[in-house]
Amino acid sequence: MLSKPVKQALSGWGQYPVESCYVYRPEMIKELQTLLSERDGSFISYGVGRSYGDTALNKGGNVIRMDRFNHFLDFNEETGMLTCESGVLLEEIIDVFLPRGFYLPVTPGTKFVTVGGAIANDVHGKNLHKDGTFSEYVQSFELLTANGEVLLCSREENADVFWATVGGIGLTGIILTATFQLIRVESAYIDVTYERARNIDEAFEKFIAHDDDYKYSVAWIDCLASGDSLGRSVLMRGDHAKREDLPASIMEPLKPANKLKATMPIHAPSFVLNHWSIAAFNELYYTVNKDADKIVEQSSFFHPLDSINDWNKLYGKKGFVQYQAVFPKNENPKAGITKMLEMLSKKKTASFLAVLKSSGPANDGLLSFPMEGYTLALDIPLKDDSLFPFLRELDELVVSHGGRVYLAKDSSLPQDTFRKMYPKWEEFLTVKRKVDPNDRFSSSMSRRLGLTD
Ligand SMILES: Cc1cc2nc3c(=O)[nH]c(=O)nc-3n(C[C@H](O)[C@H](O)[C@H](O)COP(=O)(O)OP(=O)(O)OC[C@H]3O[C@@H](n4cnc5c(N)ncnc54)[C@H](O)[C@@H]3O)c2cc1C
Repeated sequence: MLSKPVKQALSGWGQYPVESCYVYRPEMIKELQTLLSERDGSFISYGVGRSYGDTALNKGGNVIRMDRFNHFLDFNEETGMLTCESGVLLEEIIDVFLPRGFYLPVTPGTKFVTVGGAIANDVHGKNLHKDGTFSEYVQSFELLTANGEVLLCSREENADVFWATVGGIGLTGIILTATFQLIRVESAYIDVTYERARNIDEAFEKFIAHDDDYKYSVAWIDCLASGDSLGRSVLMRGDHAKREDLPASIMEPLKPANKLKATMPIHAPSFVLNHWSIAAFNELYYTVNKDADKIVEQSSFFHPLDSINDWNKLYGKKGFVQYQAVFPKNENPKAGITKMLEMLSKKKTASFLAVLKSSGPANDGLLSFPMEGYTLALDIPLKDDSLFPFLRELDELVVSHGGRVYLAKDSSLPQDTFRKMYPKWEEFLTVKRKVDPNDRFSSSMSRRLGLTD
């Protein structure tokens, strides 16, 4: 029997857009198969909605929440190979396997992400320059396709569907389970070097000189700084700490941190985040983070924002947009990023977070985001619609440098710009039509980007 959907106003993490969808929360494959055969309309899978925009939304259509598919199925202690259902959270993997000496091969800036969402957006972390994206560590996954068939996909079997699903924003089917590699670590700590750069030139110099020396690397940029200080940053680079690196006071090297959390109780009023409050915050952050080496617990390095529940409410009821762009190495990325920082600084569009990372080469994911070069990610409060023309200006800059924006964070990219940024979109559609000829899988994003009608 088909369970009843709940009509619900849903949004991604940026709280824009908010769309009315019919939401299901099944827990068995049989229910998914019944849904696909008996319910009209289109479907999109939803992990835990940690994408920022509309990639997991389906205005007027069906949304399948996958968080009940949350079982571990197999683990090989010798090889570190884990098989689990797609609704398992990265947080659960850390909690269970870090005490046994294993860690995620790649983790985004929040651990509240499902394995299915990590594959469908082909997420990356602070080791993007060295280790690539999440999919690099995925051996295989099971995909439920539109006709109810379960397809095993790997680099050898149904390889075309594998590469269309990796980064394929949920449009090829529903990922049911996945098998992927965990890495061995000696501790739950990261040995971090903090280093300040006075401007963007210095930040690039330091990135280029020392990136290869660290597994993890990221720079926090004050995007309100201007003139000689444009792009002033704090670089944070590190490696998993070995046992011998830890101070004697740490008695349990593999124990993840306690989960004491604050909660953002209500949406902050719009005046809380303004040019002056953010400028003051940025000044403080730059001043406090002096050049130093520190041993820090893994979650505070990888997932600093996770310690505040619902921190997205800080941006007020209108929400915010994330904008992450990659600038390829061979097209003068420094010039592109400098121009973007100038545009932000001039507009005084208060960006709370600007994060610079370097990226290794693209993989074979047809809609995967990364390519060799540098990425800049921004959080921009959405005060009113006047932001969108500005985002189109940023798009033009990105396209003129041969780059692209990350779909996991996007909520407004127009179709023609998407096609310029993701030239493999036609190849993607060929595979999608093979496994989903009637567009049963469709989302607000896929319609906006012209991937489905
Ligand atoms: C604070 C914060 C920091 C972040 N930092 C990073 C970062 O450093 N790097 C990075 O890459 N991303 C980052 N992200 C984005 C986040 O990692 C991705 O958007 C991730 O995919 C969200 O996973 P989710 O489980 O919430 O999926 P959702 O957001 O719910 O869905 C994401 C996509 O996956 C599809 N999907 C979900 N489950 C399935 C399934 N079972 N089968 C098929 N398709 C499915 C959905 O249809 C949708 O297209 C960050 C997000 C936040 C909020």
